[in-house]
Amino acid sequence: MSAPGPTIVALDGPSGVGKTTVAQRLAERLGLPYLETGAMYRAVGLEALDRGIDPDDAARLAKLAGELELTLEEDERGRVRVLLRGEPLDPRARTQEVAEITSRVSAHAGVRQTMVARQRQSAGRRGAVLEGRDIGTKVFPETPYKFFLDAPLKVRSERRLRQLRDAAGSEPDPRAVLAEVAARDERDAGRADSPLTMDSSYELVETGGRTVEEVVEAIVERVQAIRRGLAERSAPHG
Ligand code: C5P
Repeated sequence: MSAPGPTIVALDGPSGVGKTTVAQRLAERLGLPYLETGAMYRAVGLEALDRGIDPDDAARLAKLAGELELTLEEDERGRVRVLLRGEPLDPRARTQEVAEITSRVSAHAGVRQTMVARQRQSAGRRGAVLEGRDIGTKVFPETPYKFFLDAPLKVRSERRLRQLRDAAGSEPDPRAVLAEVAARDERDAGRADSPLTMDSSYELVETGGRTVEEVVEAIVERVQAIRRGLAERSAPHG
């Protein structure tokens, strides 16, 4: 496998694994834009909620995804912001309620096609670190830089709990958060189109019990090693 063109780093994994923080720092280290694909799906989920669209209505949701005024705009730090009708996403997009509906809405092939096309268009130009569920399987399956982040359910639900506390300032019920994280992962991994899954083309990165810096450092080293390997293989012999 070669790596022609821009560098695409795929970071996939279940919820609460720390993908967003790791992906942002990794992008800074590698000098690449960063794209949080989950935010695009959350925009669709939020819009479906506000318009009262049934999360099982595949046809209406595909139409909604196609028509939604979503723009991807890179800021001065290289982070690609997801804008809905030209505005940053409402903080409600980060709530458990929207996460739940998003996971149902994003199971539809018609919704995914639109999002995947936009992700390819945005990242294909000059490369990116992309985080999501299907980056290495569907969006950029050809990239040699694929990492699957994982951690035990308990660790992930505790991280989610902290995030919710910080974002909302409220005190969510730990058991409810654990149940929600487990249910969402099950749905994301069990859907027919683009399930969350890891194959042998990925490198597994455990994030439990490690600091963000340690995880980022480990991935940077692997990216550099893969790069060197590809350069050696493509160098002329003799
Ligand atoms: O990453 P985040 O938790 O924000 O994603 C919210 C939901 O969006 C996920 O639970 C999943 O259902 C969906 N998603 C997806 N494919 C992606 C990114 C997110 O289906 N590439």
